[in-house]
Amino acid sequence: MRILVMLGAPGAGKSTRAKLLAELLGLLHVASGDLFREAVAQGTALGREAKGYMGRGALVPDAIVTGMIEDRLSQPDAAAGIVLDGFPRTRAQAEVFDASLARRRERVTAAVYIGVREVELIRRLSGRWVCKANGHLFHATDGPPKVPGVCDYDGSELFQRDDDRPETVRARLEQQLPPMFDVVDYYRETGVLLTVDGEQEFDQVKESLLRALGDQLQLPGGVGRR
Ligand code: AMP
Repeated sequence: MRILVMLGAPGAGKSTRAKLLAELLGLLHVASGDLFREAVAQGTALGREAKGYMGRGALVPDAIVTGMIEDRLSQPDAAAGIVLDGFPRTRAQAEVFDASLARRRERVTAAVYIGVREVELIRRLSGRWVCKANGHLFHATDGPPKVPGVCDYDGSELFQRDDDRPETVRARLEQQLPPMFDVVDYYRETGVLLTVDGEQEFDQVKESLLRALGDQLQLPGGVGRR
């Protein structure tokens, strides 16, 4: 069973890459945040437990998260392997997860860290502008509107969400980066970490990702290449 862990800060493109990789390698994409949102929507016991933490923007306790991931791993559609997105979020989760995999005679195949510098993360995250009428998205430098401050599609005014203001983005990163780096360090210590430069062009990131994973997964040379 192939077990890949994707690591990266908000704005690094981790989820996009995780989905792409799952599709290319025929693995199941498992996003912990999506699993929690589904559980809350369905009103399951797990959802009731997780809801309060999620509402406060806090992490759900490690035991609940790891239990949920282990459950998901046991389903038949995960038999070939999975790409984990959003888990582990702390060193403790990574350790508990490894111990649980060892009991099943499995291990993390590779943990891929998509590296993007903090200044670039702030640029990406704080450049987002939204249209008032319909929520169309623009980016100050990566996808600007034709006329500054005006939506290309419906002519309505563009505004910046509170969440996307540079000072809020900085505060969010300050909170989220240290535990993520703990996880990166953990996988470096256990010898499964691969690092990919996430500031390259979109297709180059994909190439680097597949090249880095090639040896670990013993991929045939042509996989993912056009
Ligand atoms: P996300 O969509 O990844 O931002 O996750 C949404 C919410 O789910 C987070 O704010 C947490 O409350 C919870 N969550 C997701 N993954 C984890 C995790 N690995 N550990 C703890 N809480 C998590």
